[in-house]
Amino acid sequence: MKSALIIGGGFGGLVTGALLAREGFRVRVLEKNHNIGGGLQSFTRQGVYYETGMHILGGFSEGGSVRRIFEYLGIMDKLRIERCNMDCMDEVTYLATGDTYRLPQGREAFTEALYSYFPAERENINRYLQACYDLTEEVDIFYLRPTKSIFTVHGERFMQPADEFIADFIEDPRLRDLLAYMNPMYGGRPGHTPAYIHALINVLYISGQYHFRGRSQHMAELLVSVIYEHGGEVLTNQTVSKVNVVDRNIESVQTASGSVFHADYYISTINLKTLLPLLPEGALPRAYVSRLAEAPVTYSAFILYLAFKPESFPYLDHTGYIQDEYGLIWKHEEYDPDTWPRGIMYLTPPTENQGPWAVRMTINCIMSYDQVRRWEHTTVGRRGDDYEAWKHERAEHIIDKLERVFPDIRKCISSYTTASPLTIRDYYGSPEGALYGYSKDGLDPARTLISPVTKIHNLLLSGQCVNLHGICGVPLTAINTVECILGLNTIVDKINEYCKP
Ligand SMILES: Cc1cc2nc3c(=O)[nH]c(=O)nc-3n(C[C@H](O)[C@H](O)[C@H](O)COP(=O)(O)OP(=O)(O)OC[C@H]3O[C@@H](n4cnc5c(N)ncnc54)[C@H](O)[C@@H]3O)c2cc1C
Repeated sequence: MKSALIIGGGFGGLVTGALLAREGFRVRVLEKNHNIGGGLQSFTRQGVYYETGMHILGGFSEGGSVRRIFEYLGIMDKLRIERCNMDCMDEVTYLATGDTYRLPQGREAFTEALYSYFPAERENINRYLQACYDLTEEVDIFYLRPTKSIFTVHGERFMQPADEFIADFIEDPRLRDLLAYMNPMYGGRPGHTPAYIHALINVLYISGQYHFRGRSQHMAELLVSVIYEHGGEVLTNQTVSKVNVVDRNIESVQTASGSVFHADYYISTINLKTLLPLLPEGALPRAYVSRLAEAPVTYSAFILYLAFKPESFPYLDHTGYIQDEYGLIWKHEEYDPDTWPRGIMYLTPPTENQGPWAVRMTINCIMSYDQVRRWEHTTVGRRGDDYEAWKHERAEHIIDKLERVFPDIRKCISSYTTASPLTIRDYYGSPEGALYGYSKDGLDPARTLISPVTKIHNLLLSGQCVNLHGICGVPLTAINTVECILGLNTIVDKINEYCKP
């Protein structure tokens, strides 16, 4: 029986651990926080619970990749998720013109909706969507198809910057802007973010969008239960502080409390910029270390969590996006304290017994880490009165913006709490509060190209820094990582065999 020690008990660590445990590995997961889950953690304020990170889920439609992975792990039937409104999964509003687009789920319905809003672009819409779906076909793992080669050759559009990709098909600048509305879901940057990321995320959600019903934390707990069921364990309050490497082999890892752990394989799912300083000098090639230490991470966010008075604000069964005006979707990182936020994403996550009234609302606004740099040497709960005042002011700006769409919303709020890029940095150990790990660059793909295999023989990587982030990217990467130990396609073949129609 081989053993695997996993650093980080977020979504990546738990899925990788569950897959390995199911394969007979003796798995131990070390998580620095009191709660497991990373981006799946929930927290409670004044009797209302909220999700820290993941809210919007894709890949769970019938036959979807994420659904099949959860079926294979034996927990799909216990997962509490709810499909968003079929006729309107996302509502996008532009304040300057009052234009509102209600976008349905399913390729056909989504296409029809775009035709109705932009009839003159009918042919362009067809070509654009086809090109998006074609890009996803180049990624076998996205469909859980066995891969023939680990060296995949991609077409010329794969790495094209996403904004240029859209502009190549679409004439109307308003439609170009609208088609990029999911940009904050993948940290899109103009001229850099590759088209394949835009395509994967858009196709994922067009195929079916879900929200958690109740706490997101329960997904983490289900994954933990798989690990325990197969003889593994998940230890919290265990910050890995040192990795002992001898002759390109890890001998042990040490935690801040002084415990030492040994295993045959070590899998790091924490941000690589956090991992690298834990390794002794020379453990990995210098060029590799400096490339990853210097590579840019995605932007961060400021999050406002609202609690509503009873029966005051209606439950919304879709996600909403508010933009100030057309032309800003690629500029959310730009910061002007008076006009920020230029765009927001909001939703009223369903509770276990969701009725017609919303209990809470989560509002995510892109924010660069530069805005909180002056407090970067502070810790949670001890950042000072000026920080609290600044957060309060930012929250008021967001509520002002929400009032433009929901004029009575202020009257419905009973309390609120906020999270800044520093909160994200400190809870997840994510440098600069990066939402999604490294910022991929189509113009310089090698810079953030990270293999699950490293030059340290028994160290593998997983989590959102490797390949894609989020509800779909992280479990697919977990499969890649586990297959680096067990052999190409072993897990994919087993999932397909297990989930045969
Ligand atoms: C605000 C926000 C909103 C998001 N919304 C969505 C969404 O709606 N849909 C979606 O699909 N994705 C969303 N994401 C992305 C998604 O949450 C992540 O891609 C996913 O959770 C990443 O999983 P991970 O395991 O790679 O990293 P994490 O979840 O960050 O887990 C890493 C874990 O490692 C732990 N750790 C760090 N350092 C150490 C150490 N030294 N020792 C031990 N443990 C350590 C951390 O505490 C953490 O628990 C969102 C992310 C954020 C931040």
